[in-house]
Amino acid sequence: MTMTEQESTLLASADDVFPETLSFIEDMVKTYSVLGEEQAVLHCVEERMSSLGLPVTRVGMHKAHLSQHELYVPVPWDHENKYNLVSQLNPEAPGKTLVFNGHLDVVPADPFEMWTRPPNEPWQQDGWLYGRGAGDMQGGVAAMIYAVHAIRKAGYRITTPLTLQAVVEEECSGNGALACLHQGFGGDFVLIPEPFGPSIYSGQIGTLWFKISLRGKPVHVQAAGTGSNAIEKIQRLIPGLHRLEDELNERYRAGPYLAFDHPFNLNIGAINGGNWPSSVPSFAEMECRIGFPPGMTANEIMQKVSDCIEQTCANDPAFADERPKLRFHGFRSEGHLVDLDNPGIELLSQCHRSLIGADPEPYWSTCTTDLRAFHFYNRTGGTCYGPVAKNIHGVDECVNIESVRHVLRAYVLFISRWCRLEKL
Ligand SMILES: [Zn+2]
Repeated sequence: MTMTEQESTLLASADDVFPETLSFIEDMVKTYSVLGEEQAVLHCVEERMSSLGLPVTRVGMHKAHLSQHELYVPVPWDHENKYNLVSQLNPEAPGKTLVFNGHLDVVPADPFEMWTRPPNEPWQQDGWLYGRGAGDMQGGVAAMIYAVHAIRKAGYRITTPLTLQAVVEEECSGNGALACLHQGFGGDFVLIPEPFGPSIYSGQIGTLWFKISLRGKPVHVQAAGTGSNAIEKIQRLIPGLHRLEDELNERYRAGPYLAFDHPFNLNIGAINGGNWPSSVPSFAEMECRIGFPPGMTANEIMQKVSDCIEQTCANDPAFADERPKLRFHGFRSEGHLVDLDNPGIELLSQCHRSLIGADPEPYWSTCTTDLRAFHFYNRTGGTCYGPVAKNIHGVDECVNIESVRHVLRAYVLFISRWCRLEKL
């Protein structure tokens, strides 16, 4: 499809603001915004939005209010003083509200010495921008904010409602996106620039976090036989959890997930315990994540995990005197499929075709994103469409620089075709 003259002007403006978009990604990466340390990135993004002339509202996460919602995920940390950033253009104007949503939090990158350079000191090499968060997903956040800026800088005013959301706690609970929706900052269609490439994100699985803790019997190692080693004991629960994982993959794969060998993964993500090499450890705990199929409820998977641990304990005399404690301390997020018939999806595909000359591929994910909040809150349509990244949640995470430019251009085009623009 050929571009109109206005669209060509807007795309030229996107190219114009692209160097600044990249340096904004680097500024965000430098803040290293892991859970509990999001303040610096919030400050960085709030300042940038303001300097671009965008209105900014802080959307708080007060537990008393947020926890009333059934989608609230109870977490053991305090989020009372945290907030998300929202920029609303023309909220009162007629027209369907377009929402862009991106998360600012990143996952830990330690040990830093595994990286080529420190993960909070971004660097560019061979067309890639490196650093924790460059891919997941500060590259996308920069693209969505600068797409709006590119249009305004080209001398156009967006006159229909558009909302930018930059949220926290996407990587652990989804409570940041929920807070935005709960306080009325939702809309009619959402685009999330998660780093799964310029494809149509078509479904995602459910994700559950759980923590198992266990007490042992501490004694001097000289009499180890009279004690109970919590670290060794807690590991006896792992084979049972893998059997549950197998069951999920064998019995519950359906629809698009039939094409996957193993979409629902268990991860023993953190283990902790003991305090001294010559003492039989008195405690151990394990933090885990398990994927589960769309259609299975959070209560169902929680019950399955609980039954699984119960069963292992019932069949293993090592657990006769002390049972482990199970807690659900983060994600309890159900999976879902995207409504691909939503007109916003067709418009996005059309923009993709205009730029690339081919249809975007569908993409079914084996993890979760904040798209879930929009889907379950009030069935807001939407998808993820973002840059190409490598090594997200790993070492030497990076984002492909040209793919950020593409997303910026695609979003400029999408906004110009979804919203109404007025030449100043
Ligand atoms: Zn992400």
